[in-house]
Amino acid sequence: MFSAYRTWRRRRILQKHPLDPVLWQRVSSRFGFVARLTEPERERLGELCVLFLHEKQISPAGDFSLDNEMRLGIAIQACMLILNLGLESYRDWIEIIVYPDEFMPRQEYRNEHGLMQTDNSFYSGQAWLRGPVILSWASVESAWQHDAANVVIHEFAHKLDMLNGNADGFPSLHADMSRQQWTQTFTHAYADLCRRARLGQAVALDVYACESPAEFFAVASETFFEFPEMLSRHYPEVYHQLVLFYRQDPLSRQLPGDWRLVR
Ligand SMILES: [Zn+2]
Repeated sequence: MFSAYRTWRRRRILQKHPLDPVLWQRVSSRFGFVARLTEPERERLGELCVLFLHEKQISPAGDFSLDNEMRLGIAIQACMLILNLGLESYRDWIEIIVYPDEFMPRQEYRNEHGLMQTDNSFYSGQAWLRGPVILSWASVESAWQHDAANVVIHEFAHKLDMLNGNADGFPSLHADMSRQQWTQTFTHAYADLCRRARLGQAVALDVYACESPAEFFAVASETFFEFPEMLSRHYPEVYHQLVLFYRQDPLSRQLPGDWRLVR
């Protein structure tokens, strides 16, 4: 009953708030992972974006302002992760806060000696358990230049990881996935990356992944969507686990040869 109501409600939202085709074309053509999609997948991504923008609240911080193009850009990247998982995967929270640049949340935490300390670091993004996603617009934009890092994918991967509690690199797996396989694969790849980084060797992922298993999962997710060839070449088992987790296989999709020209 509830599911039928939700389907009806979502159909109504899609009818009442159709995507502006010009805006959609302009913004979606910036992303290589969208260029790889088939037409039906692209249509489904567009519908997910409409629902996402309806259900989530994207607020600028302070006197910063956001236009529809910026909101859609965030929605496209966030919805790419859940293209085959559904919007329910982003349940239990609604807010996305966008700062113009890197931000300093000045949050307090307990250090290893048990003393309270203030964090004076700058962040390009943060995801809070059952709370908001916070983004730096400058960092979001740099991903649009096809930079190696993608802060939106990164933070929303943390959100998926948090569906079963704190982000720890061990998200809630689907029934057809093996917990043992996931653990073995990610533990081994994490150790390998950290060892290579320590030895000063070239690494396939951003070394920020060595911060913790949670960061490894988020960085691997960025690479999975942005540079699937690279992840598959260096960590094929991680790539395979992410295919099972995201229920998508980016490598099975062709990036159009003229993609760079249409950007
Ligand atoms: Zn992170």
